[in-house]
Amino acid sequence: MKNRCLFAVSVGCFVLAAASNITGSTGSTGGTGSTGSAGQQRALYQQTQYKGQEIGKLTGDVYYARMDDYVSAFMVTREGIVLVEPIGTEMATWLKGELARRFPVPVRYVIYSHSHWDHASGGAVYADTARFIGHENMLKNIAMPPANTPLPQNARAQDTNGNGRIEQAEAQGNLKAQFDLYDADKDGALSGAEVTRGPLANVRAPDLTYTDRIAINLGGKRVEVISKPTAHADDNTIVRFVDGSNVLFASDWITVHRLPFGPIGDAETAVVKTVEAMDFEHFICSHGMLGKKADVTANVRYREELKDAVAAAIAAGQTLAQAQASVLMDAYKEWEFYAQQRPQNVAGMYRALTSTRR
Ligand SMILES: [Zn+2]
Repeated sequence: MKNRCLFAVSVGCFVLAAASNITGSTGSTGGTGSTGSAGQQRALYQQTQYKGQEIGKLTGDVYYARMDDYVSAFMVTREGIVLVEPIGTEMATWLKGELARRFPVPVRYVIYSHSHWDHASGGAVYADTARFIGHENMLKNIAMPPANTPLPQNARAQDTNGNGRIEQAEAQGNLKAQFDLYDADKDGALSGAEVTRGPLANVRAPDLTYTDRIAINLGGKRVEVISKPTAHADDNTIVRFVDGSNVLFASDWITVHRLPFGPIGDAETAVVKTVEAMDFEHFICSHGMLGKKADVTANVRYREELKDAVAAAIAAGQTLAQAQASVLMDAYKEWEFYAQQRPQNVAGMYRALTSTRR
């Protein structure tokens, strides 16, 4: 389960479809077998020690909303609510009811942080009152590839009858657990295009796309929507809720008291610093614990210390495997996902630093 979850978050659903455990090699996906047609149970999502659904106030009229490890944020104005990340159908259904009970205004805007299934699903729940905002790259990321797209290499073993499609009875791993979310045309078989696209059936396309930045002014308050393309997602969007001492939301890539996911390189540190330089007190990374600006600073420090340590290992002539064994980042042993992510972080930095050397 944990391996699957790390994949789900480290590369997101879109790449998850093409690159991770399509073969089922990392085990079952929550033991659910199959989702219902509307189903997108919480069990499919990354599970950690953070449990439960809750809403809490951050500052001004800005709140967070949690479903287990996943955290969204929203601002309440007299003219409506601005929400980032629907997360999924179960979360959106629960949250919509809670918002209606607590506040006399509807959700007017839903902002997508990026197109990955485990953040962008469930938006349709708000479609009766809301408009949907996403980076323009989100459109291509959720579009169905050409019909003649072959099954990805790592899914072909599941096509036991060799007809170029994966029927429900053939599906393993994530393709089995999220079959209905992949099967966009509901014909009971997954084409190469559907597998390549990912489990995005519950991702509603944005109505409004932007390229660099836009601002939402609603009820006398302001929300800034800003593009920050990353290796994790080229449609990555951060959101600054301008109210009280301000809240910054950045999904997946600037982690709080948790090692960054996957093979992070050197270039992203400068992008994290541009976020750190913004005006905010509270920081929500979409996962795990609630953060403050100091947590973003700590994330920068981790990346810089990782770079220095890996650079020293390279200078000492160490191979990648030797660097993974020697660069222990001891000061961060208490951070979440230390054991799982440290070797990947080292590998990413090692490759980034060696590929740029002359
Ligand atoms: Zn993601």
